[in-house]
Amino acid sequence: MKNIYFRILLIMGLMFATTSIIYLQSQEKKTVYEEKILTVKNNYQCTKCGLLLEAAKQPSAYNCTSGGIHQWNNLGEVGQNNYQCKKCGLSLKSMKQPSAYNCTKGGSHQWNSLGEKSQNNYNYQCTKCGLSLKSAKQPSAYNCTSGGIHQWNNLGEVGQNNYQCKKCGLSLKSMKQPSAYNCTSGGIHQWNNLGEVGQNNYQCTKCGLLLKSAKQPSAYNCTSGGIHQWNNLGEVGQNDYQCKKCGLLLKSAKQPSAYNCTKGGIHQWNKL
Ligand SMILES: [Zn+2]
Ligand SMILES: [Zn+2]
Ligand SMILES: [Zn+2]
Ligand SMILES: [Zn+2]
Ligand SMILES: [Zn+2]
Ligand SMILES: [Zn+2]
Repeated sequence: MKNIYFRILLIMGLMFATTSIIYLQSQEKKTVYEEKILTVKNNYQCTKCGLLLEAAKQPSAYNCTSGGIHQWNNLGEVGQNNYQCKKCGLSLKSMKQPSAYNCTKGGSHQWNSLGEKSQNNYNYQCTKCGLSLKSAKQPSAYNCTSGGIHQWNNLGEVGQNNYQCKKCGLSLKSMKQPSAYNCTSGGIHQWNNLGEVGQNNYQCTKCGLLLKSAKQPSAYNCTSGGIHQWNNLGEVGQNDYQCKKCGLLLKSAKQPSAYNCTKGGIHQWNKL
């Protein structure tokens, strides 16, 4: 008798394991399929408030932070090349030269190609204009928005840790502690390790810093003085949300938590 029960249990166990594997495989396929659909994105900029978004379709027009509705301008497909407009300073990643229409400084954008992102990227910052970008090699020097040429400083390889300089406030994802040279506030950067990059949006309600973090980031060295006061806004996802009070923009799985708007009271989230 015992033997029969054992066999029945064994068969049921095997059936359960097989259906679980089939289910997991179908889920995996679905994820890959969904990602493929979502990968074609365009750079949209609102010509009124200047907001830039990477989105699969034209974002919602409601609640422009400059009043009334957003006026979205499609600048073309998102890609691996860094471009900056030398008139308005807008910096973006594009497949090819972005559309020239509707520079927020009037007339047409004057795009400058700053080089390509690839597998291994480095954090570069221009010590004159402060522009920070991820690039496989030193970006082009032409057309610094502070005049003359950019002075690029290689801060080290891009990686899975959040670092912030407590002097200049620059925040980076870095493999290891970034290079100390050439803080834009003078002297050397004072890097603070804020912990591992992860799937939750955290914002400090004092200094406003937003990070994607695996767990609550380190509290030390808030750039507004004392310690950071981290507020978990929920899981990172594919949807763009902006608070129409404080202007904070983030990518979230669902409507972010309303607590602790940096302008006081609660955030008023608008899905874009
Ligand atoms: Zn707008
Ligand atoms: Zn421009
Ligand atoms: Zn520069
Ligand atoms: Zn610094
Ligand atoms: Zn802070
Ligand atoms: Zn807010």
